[in-house]
Amino acid sequence: ISKSEGRNCFHFFTQQMQLDAELTAKLHNDLKFALETNAFELYYQPIVCLEENKIVRAEVLLRWKHEGAFISPEVFIPVAESSGLIVELGHWVRKEAMASLLEFKRKGIEIGLSINVSMYEFWSHALQDCLVTSINDIAVDLTTDSFPFDGITLEITESLLMKQHQHLIDALQKLRDMGIEIAVDDFGTGYSSLSYLSHFPVDHIKIDKCFIQESGSSVKQQALVKAITTLSHALDLHVIAEGVETEEELQFVRSADIEAVQGYYFYKPMPKQNLLTLLE
Ligand code: C2E
Ligand code: MG
Ligand code: MG
Ligand code: MG
Repeated sequence: ISKSEGRNCFHFFTQQMQLDAELTAKLHNDLKFALETNAFELYYQPIVCLEENKIVRAEVLLRWKHEGAFISPEVFIPVAESSGLIVELGHWVRKEAMASLLEFKRKGIEIGLSINVSMYEFWSHALQDCLVTSINDIAVDLTTDSFPFDGITLEITESLLMKQHQHLIDALQKLRDMGIEIAVDDFGTGYSSLSYLSHFPVDHIKIDKCFIQESGSSVKQQALVKAITTLSHALDLHVIAEGVETEEELQFVRSADIEAVQGYYFYKPMPKQNLLTLLE
């Protein structure tokens, strides 16, 4: 690359960065406004237990219609994280999700809900207590009866576990003492070490969709998924396969002894009313 080309690239790069900074600032403002005006919605994607052939849980996925079109949480969650809005947004998600859980229970529908928690909410010790407090406060607001905490699973990412802090372990333990289950999301995408799983109080691992989707073309990926599953079972963890889209992927997941599946093959994320219709 010549020097002049290099300079051009650099010039282009800074322009791009500026654009991103502007977009980020705009998204931040819009997110704040969306929180104030209750512009978010939750979708629910069923998780199917293969042995029972039954929907046991649904993952709660945040949806935001921004300027007329849905904008991916993979775009706006990082903005919420870097601006600190994620704490308020996370609280809103839990409030909505826990209200739904109570509604399902009162209708006699047996289903658990799996809620994503950003690792930013876990970062400081104060925030960890905040998460327990946030969940407790919501429960008290929602009902005078005992809240069905055992219907909640919290999904965290493995990068969080890499830190191995005692106060993280304590926070997870506190949540589990309340009856809440913990799932490690997107397993295999970070710096995965299976050994750390034994140090943490977790209940489920969700194998990331990239492994499932590559399993069709790669025998090595298949071997890896099988090994992860065997080891997880040895550690008493339940395994969920994410992103199952085809019959072949489902066959493979069955052969790997994975017990639960989330993916377009069965269901896409849907509004609450659709989930209710499906379950009733
Ligand atoms: P995730 O927690 O790993 O959620 C699973 C994602 O995979 C969802 O994308 C879901 O729609 C998608 N998915 C499910 N089955 C399939 C499939 O068969 N094929 C393909 N290609 N995709 C499938 P979504 O809803 O766009 O969410 C993306 C990510 O945004 C989530 O990944 C999660 O990390 C984050 N996110 C979503 N909602 C929340 C939230 O309420 N709080 C936080 N902190 N993060 C959230
Ligand atoms: Mg998730
Ligand atoms: Mg995931
Ligand atoms: Mg993800």
